[in-house]
This record gives sequence, structure tokens and C-alpha cells, in this order.
Amino acid sequence: MFGQSVPVNRPLERGKRNYNRREAEERFAHVFEPVAGDRCIYCGMPSEGKVDHQPPVYVLHRFANGGLVTKRDIQRQFGQCKLVPCCTICNMGLGAYHGADDNERRREIVGWFLEDDRFPDDKFVLHMGDRLIEQRAEGKRGTEIYAFPGVGRSIYIHTLVGFIEGDFDHFDGFPGWLRLVQLELAEWLRVEPGRKAQYFLDMARLESYKLLPHARSDPRGQFE
Ligand SMILES: [Zn+2]
Repeated sequence: MFGQSVPVNRPLERGKRNYNRREAEERFAHVFEPVAGDRCIYCGMPSEGKVDHQPPVYVLHRFANGGLVTKRDIQRQFGQCKLVPCCTICNMGLGAYHGADDNERRREIVGWFLEDDRFPDDKFVLHMGDRLIEQRAEGKRGTEIYAFPGVGRSIYIHTLVGFIEGDFDHFDGFPGWLRLVQLELAEWLRVEPGRKAQYFLDMARLESYKLLPHARSDPRGQFE
């Protein structure tokens, strides 16, 4: 009745199996089909070989619930599982969030970057981001503007919201100014290793990703 599924760590009781990301990725690797492309399917940034699991491996781990599942069980529940090109920043924004479709996932990502009502100054940060981008477009400033996280937030908000609202459905449809600043941001992020992950934290105003267990293991109460 379990088809071709493989037994896993029998001593652990059903439902008590701890989540080990690496183990789970290995266990479920065979159900994911890679999707070709070199741009993040959520925001259009160069993906640079990085991918996102749809659905997240953690979701399959929860679905298996410490027991046995077949590929067919998984596909019946989630449809075709895909490995999609995805930038580091969108990947961190998603954590283990599943969502119904790509636009719902974009809403989840952009939620990290939108204005934070708890801090009145935050409106000013986003306003400054927009201003710096304008000045860059007018040639009054150089690529140093990308060091300011308000600039990155503004770019991510424009691309993600543009996709969500149907202003474009592909990188090729971006307005010229957005295409240019996104490419420059991608170059700026590529200069130092680890800069992308740090930039996500800066844009989301976080000290550390490790402080967000809800994002990685039980994202936004999806399983409650
Ligand atoms: Zn992205």
C-alpha cells in the first residue's frame, strides 16, 4: 500500500521526527522537477544558480508527518513539485512559506519590505529610496546608492507589486528605469560573498534570520 516509498528512521515515532533541512532535501529530492531559467521567477533578478522548492521541503516534511509517503501521495496533494530559479533575497523572504500560487508567494516576500507602520521614520526611508533612484536615473548619483537598503526595498517593491498587479508578467516587460536599477543592484550585490543575505536582513530590518523560527519551521501559522 505504500508503493515505492522508503522507510525512514524507524525508531522515531510518527510526528516526532525533527526537521533536518539537509536530510529532508535529500529525502524528497526525487519529487522535484527543475524548471529552466536564469532569473528569479518572483522578482526577475539574476538567480545565479539558486533555486526555490515549490512546495518548500519543510511542507513535505510536515505532510509526511514522520511516516511514509509516495511520490504519488505528494503529487495528489501538491501537484507537480518544482525547483524554480529564485534569487537569495526572495528565497529568504519565503522561508518555508507555501502559498497557493506565485503571486501569493510574491505577497509574502514583499511583506518584508513594505512600509512598517510601527515606525514613523520608515516612511522616510522608503521615500529616500525612491529619491535616490530618481537621482541615479538623472545621472546625479553613482552606484553607491545601492548600499542604502531603502533603495533595495524600493526596487523589490516595484518589481513584486508590478508582477502581482499585472503591470508585467516577465522581466522583459519592466519599465526601462526599473530594468536598469535592478541590474545595477544585482551587480552591487555580487561584489562580496554573503552580501545578498545581509541585504535581505537590512531591508527587512532584522538582526538575524535565526531569530525567525516562525519563518523557517512554521511560517505564519500555515499549519495551525
Ligand atoms: Zn527574487
